[in-house]
Amino acid sequence: MTATPETPTRTQVRPKTEGWTQKKDAEGRPLLQFASPKRGKPPVHLADLSPAQRVEKVTELGMPGFRAAQLEKHYFVHGTHDPAAMTDLPAAGREEFVHGMLPPLLTEVRRLQTDRGDTIKFLWKLHGGALVESVLMRYPGRITLCVSSQAGCGMNCPFCATGQAGLTRNMSAAEIVAQVVRANRVIAEGQLGDPREFGHEGERVSNIVFMGMGEPLANYARVMQAVRVMVDKKHGLGMSARGITISTVGLVPAIRKLSDEGIPVTFALSLHAPDDELRDEMIPVNSRWKVDEALDAAREYFEKTGRRVSIEYALIKDMNDHGWRADLLGEKLNARGRGWVHVNPIPLNPTPGSVWTASTRAAQDEFVRRLEAHGIPTTIRDTRGKDIDGACGQLVATEADQDAAQATPAEV
Ligand code: SF4
Repeated sequence: MTATPETPTRTQVRPKTEGWTQKKDAEGRPLLQFASPKRGKPPVHLADLSPAQRVEKVTELGMPGFRAAQLEKHYFVHGTHDPAAMTDLPAAGREEFVHGMLPPLLTEVRRLQTDRGDTIKFLWKLHGGALVESVLMRYPGRITLCVSSQAGCGMNCPFCATGQAGLTRNMSAAEIVAQVVRANRVIAEGQLGDPREFGHEGERVSNIVFMGMGEPLANYARVMQAVRVMVDKKHGLGMSARGITISTVGLVPAIRKLSDEGIPVTFALSLHAPDDELRDEMIPVNSRWKVDEALDAAREYFEKTGRRVSIEYALIKDMNDHGWRADLLGEKLNARGRGWVHVNPIPLNPTPGSVWTASTRAAQDEFVRRLEAHGIPTTIRDTRGKDIDGACGQLVATEADQDAAQATPAEV
C-alpha cells in the first residue's frame, strides 16, 4: 500500500505561501546556476596540486623538489603559512618562495562563540572579497567542522538564506582545505571550549561535514581534490574518509561519479520531501532529478561503497512534517532494500512568524515513530549553533558582515 495524504486534518503550507516565487530560466524551468562566475579566482596554492605537481612547482620556483614535503609538514601538520616559522628553509628568498606556494587564502572577518565556547562560527573573506562561513563544534569524543564549498549557492532552495543570495563563485580546493587548517590552529591554541571537560584528546578536527554554504557536488572537481588532501596520510591532513560527510540536494550524475571515486566518505542526501509535488517546490533541483532518481542513486552509492547513506530531512511545520509523508518515505526506502540507510530529521531553526518554522514536538515525535515503525533507523539531528545563525540553511553574509569585511585588511 502506498501512503497518500490523509483526510486533511493538518494544514498544508507551501513555499509560495509567503509570496515566494520560483525564478525561471529561458525554457521555463526553475532557475539553477551550475556554472561558476570566473571573477575573483584565488591564486594557486599547494593544496590545489597533486603531490607530483607540488614538486614540479617547487622546482619551477628554483628550489629542490624535497622542499615540497617540508611545506606540506608546515601547512598540514603545524597549520602555518608564515615564512618566519619555517627556519628549516634557506633564509634567502624564503618569503617569496613560501608566498608562491602557500599564498594566504582566508582572512578572518568575524568570530562568534557560543555553547559555552564549544561552538565557533567563523566568517572568512576570500580572495576577491567573497564571504563564506564555517562552524567548528566540539562534541564528546569528536570535533566537527562544517565547511563551505561555494561562496553562495546556485540551487535556489526557498528555505535557505544562502540559496536566496545566489552563487558568487566556486571555492578552490585549497580554500576549502584552508578552513580545516585554520580550525586546527584555533583548536591547538586552546580557543575551542574546555578540552578537558569531555576528556577529548585528539586536538584536531576529526569530522568534516560539507553542509556550510554551497552545493558541494556542483563544485565537484575542487571538492574532490579537497577531500583527497583531507584523507592523504603522507601529503595531506591524514583524516579518516569515514569522518567526512558530503551532502547534496540530489545532483544525480554527480552522486554516481562519487560512488566510483573509491573514497569511502559518508554520503548524505538532503531529501526534505518524499513526494515530487512538494519537493519540486522546496528543492528546485528536483525539476531535473526526481525523488525516485535521487533515491536510486543513493542506493547505488551504498551498493558500490558499502557505506550506509544518510537522508537529511528538515522538519518544517505543516510543510513536510505530516505523518503520511513519514510513511511514504519509509515505503520508498524499504522498496530499495533494508539496512542501507538511516534518516536524520532536523528540526528547522525557528523563524518566528514565517512559514519556515520548526515542527511541533508532537509532530517530530510522530514522524520519527512512523519511520521507526517501518524499520528505518532514525535519529533527530542536533542543530548546534542555531543561536549564532550557524546551522545549515542559515549561513549567509549579512550587511553588517559585508561592512566588517570591507573594514578588514586581507591577511598576508
Ligand atoms: S539548501 Fe543547500 S543546496 Fe539549497 S540553496 Fe541552500 S546551500 Fe544551496
